[in-house]
Amino acid sequence: KAFNSLQLSRPVLKGLAALGYTLPTPIQSATIPIALMGKDIVAGAVTGSGKTAAYLIPIIERLLFKNSRIPTIRVIVLAPTRELAIQVADVGNKLTRFVNNLTFGLAVGGLNLRQQEQELKKRPDIVIATPGRIIDHIRNSTSFYVDNVEVLIVDEADRMLEEGFQKELTEILSLLPKKRQTLLFSATMNSRIKDLIQLSLDKPVRIMI
Ligand code: AMP
Repeated sequence: KAFNSLQLSRPVLKGLAALGYTLPTPIQSATIPIALMGKDIVAGAVTGSGKTAAYLIPIIERLLFKNSRIPTIRVIVLAPTRELAIQVADVGNKLTRFVNNLTFGLAVGGLNLRQQEQELKKRPDIVIATPGRIIDHIRNSTSFYVDNVEVLIVDEADRMLEEGFQKELTEILSLLPKKRQTLLFSATMNSRIKDLIQLSLDKPVRIMI
């Protein structure tokens, strides 16, 4: 089945075509329709499965469909490393090549904090972050609001826990609105991830590819 059958908007389909994606990968076929319904998802997905587009496409569709007049952070993507975060932003920028007025911001370690603060002051729609750095921004910046976040993505949850971000994740979760959609991706499952799922998701649909 082609992307056309997933009821995606024209600019997103054009973005996918420009990226050379013709057919959705299994994780994309399984995740996109359920995410578009607004449900929480736990997905077992490894790198190389196409998981990045699997969560970026429904987020982009949501933001296109439900426009916000005031600039505000509406989606947070948490990634374990700055390299992965930058990669996600790159896919996001490419997917939205034909979409107007949708902005991405990075909140990752290793990049200049002040400069990042200036970028985040503009309230990008989608902030891609590593847990440590986003906590820095929430704690130290008077202009970093997460009150309007509608969707949280936890990418590579298992690696995030391996990197020792459990405390940061718990703190971030406590600051985000309870009423939100959450999608969690993990290559492996263990009891710590199950605890995180318990803490962060509401009646999730489980997708194991
Ligand atoms: P990911 O698992 O998100 O890191 O993606 C792995 C690789 O697959 C990346 O190089 C993507 O550009 C590529 N990719 C993702 N989705 C598709 C698709 N539907 N068709 C072709 N390539 C894809």
